[in-house]
Amino acid sequence: MTERELLETGLEQLGLSASPQAVDDLLRFSALLLEKNKVMNLTAVTDPREVVTRHFLDCAALAPQLQPGGRVLDVGTGAGFPGLPLAVLCPQTEFTLLDAQRKRIDFLSDVIAALGLSNCTAVHARAEDFAKDNRAAFDCAVSRAVAELRVLAELSLPMVRVGGCFLAMKAADCADEVAAAAHACAVLGGGAAQTLSYTVPHDGVARALVRIPKEADTPAQYPRRFKKIQSAPL
Ligand code: SAM
Repeated sequence: MTERELLETGLEQLGLSASPQAVDDLLRFSALLLEKNKVMNLTAVTDPREVVTRHFLDCAALAPQLQPGGRVLDVGTGAGFPGLPLAVLCPQTEFTLLDAQRKRIDFLSDVIAALGLSNCTAVHARAEDFAKDNRAAFDCAVSRAVAELRVLAELSLPMVRVGGCFLAMKAADCADEVAAAAHACAVLGGGAAQTLSYTVPHDGVARALVRIPKEADTPAQYPRRFKKIQSAPL
């Protein structure tokens, strides 16, 4: 199967219909990512077929959870995951890709310009600093492979509006991590976490999507400084 066929059939398996333009955009992103990865550490994946499965199809599994017309924040987006593939697949949703590393954000700004994506912006900032001017500014926050859930909840939930949600992409065996984060979520205005399981098409890897609804305003003292969040997680 070609990368295009892998991508098209994988998206179909997830119940997603992608336009030919969206498929072209994702394959162009893959090429730009692998090219830049030769001179900059963006991803451990070097096989274009694995970019399709381990990055694009894994991230695409979130798409059905997003509301068209909403504003989504990707906390610790790195090389654009999950936010960039989602921006391509969900053109009616607005994405802000946030990362503390300037070089990664510069790369993403170049990709966004090259693909002509008008629903996506890359921002260089630490989440705990960005939160100061963006409290409750997003309908949804998403994140993959950034920190354990207790820490991630403090970085993300303050920026989600009441009625919205935080979606954390985790390994399938995340039950202990989710249980350990229950207190943090409650303190931050989050409700009970719901874990949805899925399998990445063509890859067969089992993954989990942890959904934390935002039920009340986050108290003003959160998020704390990063050192404090890490050394004394809620
Ligand atoms: N989410 C991407 C993925 O799944 O491939 C990247 C994961 S990478 C392991 C973690 C990223 O989170 C890094 O790019 C790092 O700079 C970013 N990060 C960690 N802590 C952060 C913070 N407090 N604010 C913003 N970005 C952060």
